Amino acid sequence: MKMASNGNKDQQKNILDNLRSIFGFKERQKNALPPKARFSIWYFLITIFLFTYLQQYFFSAKVETIPYSQFKQYIAAGNVGKLTIGPENINGTLKGEPVQKFTTIRVVDPDLVKDLDEHKVNYSGHYESKFLSTLLAWVIPIGLFFLIWRYAMKKMGPGMGVMSFSKSKAKIFAESETKVNFDDAAGIDEAKEELQEVVEFLSNPGKFQKLGGRIPKGVLLVGPPGTGKTLLARAVAGEAEVPFFSISGSEFVEMFVGVGAARVRDLFAQAAGQAPCIIFIDELDALGKARGMNVMGGHDEREQTLNQLLVEMDGFETNKGVIIMAATNRPEILDPALLRPGRFDRQVLVDRPDLKGREAILKIHSKNVVLSPEVDLHKIAGRTPGFVGADLANLINEAALLAARKDKEEVGITDFDEAIDRMIAGLQKKNRVMNAQEKEIVAFHESGHAIVAESVEHADPVHKISIIPRGIAALGYTQQQPTEDRYLMTRSELLDRLAVLLGGRVAEELVFKEISTGAQNDLQRATDIARSMVTEYGMSDRLGLVAYERPRQPMFLPEGFAPEKAYSESKAAQIDEEVARFVEEAHQRVLKILSERRNILDDLAHLLSQKESVQGEELRKMLSESNAGMANSSPEAD
Ligand code: ADP
Ligand code: MG
Ligand code: ZN
Repeated sequence: MKMASNGNKDQQKNILDNLRSIFGFKERQKNALPPKARFSIWYFLITIFLFTYLQQYFFSAKVETIPYSQFKQYIAAGNVGKLTIGPENINGTLKGEPVQKFTTIRVVDPDLVKDLDEHKVNYSGHYESKFLSTLLAWVIPIGLFFLIWRYAMKKMGPGMGVMSFSKSKAKIFAESETKVNFDDAAGIDEAKEELQEVVEFLSNPGKFQKLGGRIPKGVLLVGPPGTGKTLLARAVAGEAEVPFFSISGSEFVEMFVGVGAARVRDLFAQAAGQAPCIIFIDELDALGKARGMNVMGGHDEREQTLNQLLVEMDGFETNKGVIIMAATNRPEILDPALLRPGRFDRQVLVDRPDLKGREAILKIHSKNVVLSPEVDLHKIAGRTPGFVGADLANLINEAALLAARKDKEEVGITDFDEAIDRMIAGLQKKNRVMNAQEKEIVAFHESGHAIVAESVEHADPVHKISIIPRGIAALGYTQQQPTEDRYLMTRSELLDRLAVLLGGRVAEELVFKEISTGAQNDLQRATDIARSMVTEYGMSDRLGLVAYERPRQPMFLPEGFAPEKAYSESKAAQIDEEVARFVEEAHQRVLKILSERRNILDDLAHLLSQKESVQGEELRKMLSESNAGMANSSPEAD
């Protein structure tokens, strides 16, 4: 027996391997479950199978099922020894050695007892207990379900107990060295520059600690999908040569309450043991949506997980050398608590690449592609405004596939043309590609914002102007950079802000004598500011020092829920009038600013159509060159 045991095991393994291939199990990587845990369910099924098979084998050898007619013949021939008559079947033995058992299904036969008495058969009645069959019918399926459940739990995590499925180590993976570095990402130089500091800290935490410098704890990468946020996070780890713990926000949100929170705890505990390292939470918005917007009330699973994340981030000492990075393409829906100091207080914009950036990205991704010499990546970049890094990588791939299909030796310009046409058709559906006329309108619109921002006294300086489409809502943007943190705003600052918001629309009005729908969001925001000035801050001289509305409290009010009015209808009409007056006065002021600087507006818009993005310095240079002495027009509403 002992000798055979080894062979048995091998055989068993073979059977398992076969089953595995039959049921489509693929070999997994090392970090997956150990084989034993994985296939315990198969052991179980095989056992059941063997058991029923053996049972049948033994029983069918001894008990023969015979037709009722034959049973009657046995009686007539006097062959029957002993009989047990049940309600459904009759079991008995035949005379002779060895004793042979038989069974037959009972049929309606009122003469049976008479027959038996005639042939002197020894018979008795039998009550068939349903206990065993009931037990089997219930217990086996329940047992099976339990085992399948256990199996599923184990698949989620390698721990042995039921509770340990929170430890999903398969998903929290640490790459000790991501082979990605900053050279693999292009067109996002500003983001790279900002992250350089993180790299320096991670590669030499001691240096920073000695000087007591403030080290960022959480860095949030913000940008549209496919711009390289995930890539950049891994590149930071690669540059600093530290472990990289990565998990996606959606993976935290599990169906079992408490699992997400446990995972967060687990993730941070693991990372603490590996410092210096990076914890990267991809798609933070899946988990970090603002809390309290749940009208039905109650804590849901996501909230618990988010709370745990906040707790862990607070409890973390930065000088341990762990930096938490996260990525999102929807920063506006994040819970404000996540963005507070000590959490994700540093935000890095990972933007769509401009012309130069696109060319650089194309260069990176065409490194391993044989391009025909006629292919000019600069021209291709010019034809693909609005494409992000992922689109461009895809473009090169598509072109290479097209060339391969035609059995070409190298990827030619026609392949690129075809690939671009295909992709643009796809992207147009998503509103990410503009035609030439739209592009011009957007260029003037954004130039208007930027020039007004530079011309009024209290607006933040322009950092960058861009007409790279960024999705349905915004066709271009003017990015202003605050020079300092602000907690209070004065009346003239608010008026300047109002002016900047109207700048885009007024520029369109001035140049095209017509306005587009692109200014809708600007108008909305401008009106909001004007209304707040009137109703909340008491900044209207006519209505005076009365707050007509309380600040909105998102903790208790679901979105779109209007606060109760604390004023009469006539007051409401006055408020509306006053709001309209604020906006109209700002409109006149902006009209004046832009008419005076019409030549700059034209120049800037022209430059913008060409380059797609213009830095703030360039605009300031244009302004100071054109008319150095122009006085700032001051707010004159009221
Ligand atoms: P995100 O996380 O912002 O949605 P990813 O980092 O997942 O985008 O980008 C997907 C892929 O697109 C990357 O793996 C890379 O091949 C390519 N890619 C995106 N942005 C860039 C870039 N700036 N430079 C080079 N390649 C990029
Ligand atoms: Mg990503
Ligand atoms: Zn605008």
